[in-house]
Amino acid sequence: MTQPILVNVTEEIVRGLVRFLLYGAEYQTFCHCEQCEMNIIASALNNLPQKYVTSDVARTKAFSVLSTPHNIEAINKEIIHAIHKVGQGLDHSE
Ligand SMILES: [Zn+2]
Repeated sequence: MTQPILVNVTEEIVRGLVRFLLYGAEYQTFCHCEQCEMNIIASALNNLPQKYVTSDVARTKAFSVLSTPHNIEAINKEIIHAIHKVGQGLDHSE
């Protein structure tokens, strides 16, 4: 029996995508501090359905469901929206 886990698979995917986008060519000039990165992640996650799982098997399954091109596109849309929102109120608080 493996150890139970408690993770939001949506969060794991969003964290990865935010990192990927922020360090890509398009957002080179955007603030790369940890606070802004977390503000973006929090803002995007507040607009996306959470997907909590308690085992690695369920996590893998949820990951493949959430990683379809259609879903990734929808998640990326929320992230880009969040980047703009955080960029507008860039005061390193919130
Ligand atoms: Zn910042």
